[in-house]
Amino acid sequence: MSGSTQDRITAPWPSAVVGCLNAYQALGYAVLYRCQAPDHDEPLPALVATEEGWVCPDSQCAYTQNWACAEHGDGRATAAAEIFADLLGERMTPGAAATAEQVVTVLAGNRFFWADEYELHQSIAGLLVAGGFEVRQEVPLSTGGRIDLMTGRVGIEIKVNGRPSEVMRQITRYAASPDIDALVLATTRATHRIIARTIGTEGVVNDTPVTIVQINGMAL
Ligand SMILES: [Zn+2]
Repeated sequence: MSGSTQDRITAPWPSAVVGCLNAYQALGYAVLYRCQAPDHDEPLPALVATEEGWVCPDSQCAYTQNWACAEHGDGRATAAAEIFADLLGERMTPGAAATAEQVVTVLAGNRFFWADEYELHQSIAGLLVAGGFEVRQEVPLSTGGRIDLMTGRVGIEIKVNGRPSEVMRQITRYAASPDIDALVLATTRATHRIIARTIGTEGVVNDTPVTIVQINGMAL
């Protein structure tokens, strides 16, 4: 599950695949395919699938893209994401609390694509929900601060940025919270490996087990 290659499908696409790709884009919670032409303002336009490939919805724009990830063309990702979309906005989703080990399994076993940290939160929460786990987002801690995700008493902090020293301080603070029995730090940054060198990939901070997971995938 590493490297830059993955299962891709190349246009022309059958109409069923076009339907799946557009359904996926319409979910809107993690739009992966956006126009890469340099002349648009943020947010970049979400591409529209046609049998000939992706096109930009802006009729003045000639951008096209002829590939998509296979899982977005066969409905798999849409089915998983729809479950999550139904639950968006809920403080708590139904399901069992995941253990830290289960969270790590989900994180390590998937590839992620994100435009910003919030999209990555949504993707991770969506996968946990699709796995039948209870998830809360932006959970306030009694010791101050809000942790990105909680399942049961396992806290998940997601980082796409930040100096290692800042991240370490945050982890130390969260680990001291009586609300949290175990912490998972999910990071996209290679520079955060220095934290793993300090505390170990499965270390203990303030008597709380902390597991560090490197996220596979790419920023868009
Ligand atoms: Zn465009």
